[in-house]
Amino acid sequence: MQKILLVICDGLGDRPTKKFGGKTPLEAAKTKNLDRLAANGLTGTMNAVDRKLYPDSDKAHLSIFGYPLGKYYCGRGPIEAAGIGLKLRKGDIALRANIATVDQKGIIVDRRAGRIESVQKFVKKLDGIKINGTRIFVKAGTGYRAVVVVRGKGLSEKVTQNDPKKIGVKPLKFMAENSSGNAERTAEILNAFTERAHEILLMHPENLKRKKLGLLEANYLLCRGAGKVKYIPGFKKKYGLKATVIAGAGMYKGIAKIVGMKVLKVKGATGLPNTNVKAKFLAAKKALKKFDFVFVHVKAADSFGEDGNAEGKKKFIEKIDRAAKEFLDLKNTVIAVTADHSTPCELKKHSSDAVPVLVAGQGIKGGQVKEFSERACRKGTLGHLSGLQLMPKLLRLSGRR
Ligand code: ZN
Repeated sequence: MQKILLVICDGLGDRPTKKFGGKTPLEAAKTKNLDRLAANGLTGTMNAVDRKLYPDSDKAHLSIFGYPLGKYYCGRGPIEAAGIGLKLRKGDIALRANIATVDQKGIIVDRRAGRIESVQKFVKKLDGIKINGTRIFVKAGTGYRAVVVVRGKGLSEKVTQNDPKKIGVKPLKFMAENSSGNAERTAEILNAFTERAHEILLMHPENLKRKKLGLLEANYLLCRGAGKVKYIPGFKKKYGLKATVIAGAGMYKGIAKIVGMKVLKVKGATGLPNTNVKAKFLAAKKALKKFDFVFVHVKAADSFGEDGNAEGKKKFIEKIDRAAKEFLDLKNTVIAVTADHSTPCELKKHSSDAVPVLVAGQGIKGGQVKEFSERACRKGTLGHLSGLQLMPKLLRLSGRR
């Protein structure tokens, strides 16, 4: 039986761009190590979630880990909460939040407050607010992200979001998704809370400082992904695999934790473009000695895609490739490299374009495909996979099924 190493490069897939003479950032990037793995292994393409759905990262990961969304998806909030080590209680409602900037008229001018690097100082002032018999907790995530938890009786996760996901408009009001009193009550509490939070943030000393420096103020909480915790059988129970995760960004640690993976801390893993990919890959190699399954998440290609920065995306892919040299001599391990979804620079958001997949390892013979890219992998013998089909493939190829 071989070990399994799964490397997910978030938002890796893209579309041909004029900037690169009709190549995608992945095609334009120099990726000799990933190409070598592709040439020595099997290739194909994948849509982690049904093409009709928007491919959110959390849903895509849950599918790739082999959990049907209808049964196991609990919403993004609880996943983010798990990622930053928050212990939710039964009945808690968790939401993910962005700290955003609104102007004097209440219009959103930046959904991420200029991609502010930490919101720790801001959320401290919002943590523990009481509204209508509930208590609200706010904890910092990575960068501009935070998690909001509402704790109390008679709450429901069936509420909409206040994030319109665009700028130039006012934040939305939370609304009940059904006519249950609990959903209505939860929406009211969240509306009151975000207003109160806005008032507090406006007067926050850090914002007064930012204003003086000409920086965007971090003055509004845009929340989405309300959810309640659900029972999910972990990797050990489901596959008999002792599994671990190496990731920088909180959400990915969260989703891995929810499926029973042990979170490994790696110095320099940030979830940002400055992340130390090599340190992560070296740590993964080491972890393979102790664990049956190692999941490594690398975030920044997705962020570059969302910013429409094709050059940055290409360069970051090259950084991944340089680090992937560490994987050329893996022993007794099946390695898969893929993405959770595409994030084309021209769209600045996720798309349902299929992503490339490569699977290499001892006993796996290479095919015709010599390059790891969106187009080259279409000709691979793995064919086109759904997210749910990947784990069974990896289990078989590693001699575990
Ligand atoms: Zn993603």
